[in-house]
Amino acid sequence: MKHQRGASLLVAVFAGSNLATAADDPASVLMRRALAPTPILEDLRQLTDTIGGRPTGSAAVDRAVDWGLARFREAGLENVHAEPYAAPRTWLAGAESAEVLAPRADWATPGSERLRIAALPFSAPTPAAGLEAEVLDVGEGDAQAFAAAGARVAGRLVLFHTTPMRGLEDLFTEYMETPGRLARAREARAAGVLWMSTHPGRLLYRHNATLDGSLYPLPAAVVEREGALRLARLAAAGETLRVRLLAGGRSDVGTPARNVVAEVKGREKPDEVVILGAHLDSWDLGRGALDNGCNAALVIDVARQAAGLAHEGIRPRRTLRFVLYTGEEAGLWGSFAEVRQHRAGLDQVKAQVVFDIGTGKTTGFSLGGRADLQGAVEAALAPASARGPFTQTTDAFIGTDNYDYLVEGVPTLVANQDGRPYLPDYHAESDTFDKVDQEQLKANTAVAAVVAWGLADLPAAPAPRQSRAEVEALVQATGLVEQMRLFGLWEPFVRGERGRAPAERGAE
Ligand SMILES: [Zn+2]
Repeated sequence: MKHQRGASLLVAVFAGSNLATAADDPASVLMRRALAPTPILEDLRQLTDTIGGRPTGSAAVDRAVDWGLARFREAGLENVHAEPYAAPRTWLAGAESAEVLAPRADWATPGSERLRIAALPFSAPTPAAGLEAEVLDVGEGDAQAFAAAGARVAGRLVLFHTTPMRGLEDLFTEYMETPGRLARAREARAAGVLWMSTHPGRLLYRHNATLDGSLYPLPAAVVEREGALRLARLAAAGETLRVRLLAGGRSDVGTPARNVVAEVKGREKPDEVVILGAHLDSWDLGRGALDNGCNAALVIDVARQAAGLAHEGIRPRRTLRFVLYTGEEAGLWGSFAEVRQHRAGLDQVKAQVVFDIGTGKTTGFSLGGRADLQGAVEAALAPASARGPFTQTTDAFIGTDNYDYLVEGVPTLVANQDGRPYLPDYHAESDTFDKVDQEQLKANTAVAAVVAWGLADLPAAPAPRQSRAEVEALVQATGLVEQMRLFGLWEPFVRGERGRAPAERGAE
């Protein structure tokens, strides 16, 4: 025992002397401070328990923006300000309910006919008195199912089946299947859509009907899984099903919104910028803790530590910009607005880092199709190696606030995180502070601090901005083009409205 202790002390002394210089490097200091007690959990508690669910366009998101500005100011950041923009389309929930009108027995216990439902954001509202219609089970809702159902779809509420969500791939599948299914229901003149919840336990979540700023013309709602499965069994048993659906959502265009921005100015190249960002908005059913309050709190905490170093006279070469985006859930509007408003200065944005998968362990970064970023990212991450291993991936996907930067040719990093602790509460009623893995959030904050500082402090920029032609090649090579088509983002890219403008070709 004694001997062992002596041996480990010796190791510690050697390790200590080895690390004497490394431990003093600013990224390591930042990491240590991020891991020590900080106000991050109290910040998150306020954002979730006090402010709560904060869809863009709501009073709550306004409160969250003011709160974010106050946190940055308190933390001693520079250039703290809100950047206003108009979100092309937003959606706020209204009254929503559903009940089974038939079959309904005389002896049924009052209340047992109720179905728990949550309208799909960007679906049309029902009439104020609700929409009464027969329910038609269309199973998977593929082209064959609709061909088989034929004219029976018209005027009915179609019930789509889903499989229970087990992994991030299932979440992507749900998003990928939605546009086709909803289009088939509309073309067959359905009265509305019932979408079986992918989560058991009668749990509801918001699942967008569209992602491109358009409004789906039919009422559509997620239905508690258990109730939807019962409807399917009743239909299979030959019962005629009638449901009254009430969904009072409200959709607005050009909604005033604000992003929150703060900086630590660089010491050598203050005009060059590395962004660390996360979205501040959330859907309304839960309180937006895992998606994405925890990572808004992470950004604020990294900013707090970086500002602390700056006050001690230690700054990275480039400017660190911290951005809390809004409008993310409604269509990535906040990051789109940032890119549009600063389009002339995008050459100076050397990298953007985004966190958006709750408090799952950070396993590395998705480089948005940019293998040329790998060396710089690994060099930046080196001081955090004890928190690894980190594996970088070169996939590209549509799902968070890096998208508009990526298609503008700006190097982007999205934290690859363990998705398992994130999925059960994704956009759901259960997304509350108690789901947050506090220790892992601290660890992720340390990694975020190291990578953001490291990229801002590298002697050379992490990777060049891509030309329009290079972005076009990237979206093809990574398959991103398929997602862009599906989500209505391909046409805006082709027209140069979203993504690096074709007109810039001549300047290459
Ligand atoms: Zn999110």
